[in-house]
Amino acid sequence: MSNEYHHVLVAVDLTKDSHKVLERALPIAERNNAKLSIIHTLEPLGFAYGGDIPMDLTSIQDQLDDHAKQRLAEIADPHNVARENQHVVVGMPDTEIHRFADDNDVDLIVVGSHGRHGFALLLGSTSTGVLHGAKCDVLAVRVGQDGETDE
Ligand code: AMP
Repeated sequence: MSNEYHHVLVAVDLTKDSHKVLERALPIAERNNAKLSIIHTLEPLGFAYGGDIPMDLTSIQDQLDDHAKQRLAEIADPHNVARENQHVVVGMPDTEIHRFADDNDVDLIVVGSHGRHGFALLLGSTSTGVLHGAKCDVLAVRVGQDGETDE
């Protein structure tokens, strides 16, 4: 048993690809006897609507938060990821994932990457953002179906 990693962080966008990303991370965490946390970030509504709409967006943000927590639990519960290790945070994905990793001594971040054509499209924008600036290892798990075109 290697114990190369102590805390594995799985970042998921809550699409069906999330299962594949989590399923790749789980055996790595198990082999290393590592803690596993899972995170989803929600874009703040204020970013999308700025000050253009004169209304309080708090309750809508809370509803989105609750919905994301529920969806995250649907993905993580069947794999016995404890609720206390399931995190929904508001902010930009790469910034929040780096912040969580730094604050919680994460030494491996696992993200999905789409098999788009061409080297520049090898990683999705979020996975590229996570890779750049990460202070620990990052594993990009290939997601998306073979033969799928994104154009
Ligand atoms: P994308 O850049 O949309 O192709 O996403 C690539 C990967 O980045 C996903 O498979 C997730 O691992 C991660 N990711 C994307 N959006 C989020 C999000 N809102 N919260 C956490 N991780 C995300």
